[in-house]
Amino acid sequence: MPIYEYRCTNCSQVFEKLVLDRDASIECPRCPGAAVEKQFSAFSFKGERKVIGSGTLGSAGSSCAPSG
Ligand SMILES: [Zn+2]
Repeated sequence: MPIYEYRCTNCSQVFEKLVLDRDASIECPRCPGAAVEKQFSAFSFKGERKVIGSGTLGSAGSSCAPSG
């Protein structure tokens, strides 16, 4: 079932909501009318980060010059 987690931006209440309609307006159960933001169930967020080496490649030359 499409249950999403939301957090109220007013009282920081986190609640889950069964969302049958994607366009349905979600309201905080405590603060009707308050804005909520959707929480991604991403506590195990993919934290892969590309390691970018500090520039050893040589000369800083012309920047973005159009070829022609
Ligand atoms: Zn609230």
